[in-house]
Amino acid sequence: MGVFSELADGYEEVVFFHDPPSGLRAIVAIHSTLLGPALGGTRYYPFGSEEEALRDVLRLSRGMTYKAAVTGLDLGGGKAVIIGDPKRDKSEELLRAYGRFIDTLGGRYITAEDVGTTRDDMDLVRRETRWVTGVSERLGGSGDPSPVTSWGVFNGLKACAEEAFSAPTLDGLRVVVQGVGKVGYHLARHLVEAGATVTVSDVDVDNAARAVKDLGVETVEPAKAHAAECDIFAPCALGGVIRDDTIPELKCKVIAGAANNQLERPEHGEVLADLGILYAPDFVINAGGLINVADELMGYDQQRAMKRVEDIYRTLREVFRISKAEEIAPAKAAERLAEQRIASISRLRQWFVPGERRQRPLTR
Ligand code: NAD
Repeated sequence: MGVFSELADGYEEVVFFHDPPSGLRAIVAIHSTLLGPALGGTRYYPFGSEEEALRDVLRLSRGMTYKAAVTGLDLGGGKAVIIGDPKRDKSEELLRAYGRFIDTLGGRYITAEDVGTTRDDMDLVRRETRWVTGVSERLGGSGDPSPVTSWGVFNGLKACAEEAFSAPTLDGLRVVVQGVGKVGYHLARHLVEAGATVTVSDVDVDNAARAVKDLGVETVEPAKAHAAECDIFAPCALGGVIRDDTIPELKCKVIAGAANNQLERPEHGEVLADLGILYAPDFVINAGGLINVADELMGYDQQRAMKRVEDIYRTLREVFRISKAEEIAPAKAAERLAEQRIASISRLRQWFVPGERRQRPLTR
C-alpha cells in the first residue's frame, strides 16, 4: 500500500503508536481540524492486517469530518484503531499507554468509545489524558448516548415524513424498525407515542420480545424486514443493509435509521433516488451520538444535548432541499453541505492568529 498516496486526499496527520511491553499497536488518523479538534472513537478490532487497519482508520476519520461539519459542530474529524482482540488483549496497561499517546497529540485528536471499546476503557484512558469523551458520569461524562441518538433519529424521521408525505408527523405512518437494541428500542417507543404503526425485527429474540411486551408492536422475521410493505424502513442494526440483492425487494417509500454505513456502496444512494425512495444519509440522521459526546467538552448537560439533536430535523430539510435543487442524491447533497460549511467557517477560524496582533487576509 502506498501510504503517502492514500494520504493525498487531504489528511492532516496519521500517527502510529507502538508500546511493545503492553502490546499496544494503534493508529490515529486526523483527517481535518479545520473546524476544531478532531473527535472520533477508538475502534479496537482484530484487523486481518496492518493495511486493513490503516484503510479503516482513514475511511472512518474522513467520515467523522463530514458528520461533524454537516451537524454544525465546531469539531474536525478523526478516528483511532487499536489492532488486536479486545476480548483477549485489552488491559489497564495497554489502555493507559494508549491514553499517554493520545495526550502527546495535545488535544488535536479527542477520542471516545467505538466498536470494541467501552465507557470503562475510556475511564482508564482518562487517567492519562483529558482528551477523551464518553467517560462515566462520575467523571463528568455523558454515559449511554443511545437515548440522544434515538431522539435525533426520531426528529430526522419527521423531516423525512414532511418530504415524502407532506407533513412533519409520524402519526398514522407504518414504520419497520430493524434492530431494537439500544437505539432502535427507544426509537420504536417514540414512534408508538407519536401514533405510528410500528413493526420491529431483531435476531435477538429477547430484544424483540421486550419491544413487543413494552410497546405492543408487531414483529417481522429478520430476513424479511427490509422487504416489508411500509412507509418508512428504519435500519437500526448493522451496516450494509442496502445493497444489490436487497434493493429490488424494498417496498418502502423512505429509508431512515440509526445504523452506520447503511449503503453497501455509495452509488446505492443514486439507485434509491432513481427508484423514488427517499434516503436520509446515515451520518446526518444518526449524529446524536456525536452531539452527545461533543457536549461533554462544555460540561455535559443531557437536556442541552437533547435540544441540540432536534436540529437534525432542520439539517435534513436542508439536505433534501439541496438534493432537489441540484438533482443529486441526498447523500451527495449532505456531503456538499458539509464541504460548504468547512470552506466558509474554516476561513473565519483562520482570521485571527493567537498571539499575533495582525489580522490574516480573508482569503483561503
Ligand atoms: P445494539 O447492539 O444495542 O443494537 C443492535 C440490535 O440489532 C441488537 O438488538 C441486535 O440483536 C440487532 N440485530 C443485529 N443484526 C440484526 C439483523 N440482521 N436483523 C435484525 N436485528 C439485528 O446497537 P445500537 O447502539 O442500538 O446501535 C445500532 C446501530 O446504530 C449501529 O449500526 C450503530 O453503529 C449505530 N449508531 C449507534 C449510536 C448509539 O448512540 N448507540 C450512535 C450512532 C450510530
